Amino acid sequence: MSSNCIFCKIVSGEIPSGKVYEDEDLVVFHDIHPAAPVHLLMVPREHFENLDVAEARHERLLGKMQLLAPRLAREQGATNGYRVVTNNGPDGGQEVYHLHVHVLGGPRPWKRL
Ligand code: AMP
Ligand code: ZN
Repeated sequence: MSSNCIFCKIVSGEIPSGKVYEDEDLVVFHDIHPAAPVHLLMVPREHFENLDVAEARHERLLGKMQLLAPRLAREQGATNGYRVVTNNGPDGGQEVYHLHVHVLGGPRPWKRL
């Protein structure tokens, strides 16, 4: 847990979220400013900044999120396609420095991305 990290606070339950899935490795909730009709954030329970600092031991977690995305996208109503996105660093548009995966879908047009 990183003390000033908003996603750590969501993972711990200190800050509420619209949670749609959780297991021993990760929590998934609705993005507070959705950029598409379906916009989920998949957030590992472990705090690490982004892919720059990911290690070999994160391989299973990163793969798990990719494989979970289609199921959650479909369950949330994105039945005609979706995007799976991780922003890394300033030029990658990363705002929250706790690694997360965006799952975006639903009928276009979308606001951004
Ligand atoms: P990124 O730019 O990839 O770091 O994305 C961070 C995302 O977190 C943005 O899309 C924000 O809308 C979202 N976000 C920030 N605070 C919250 C929150 N409290 N609950 C849900 N989503 C949030
Ligand atoms: Zn964190």
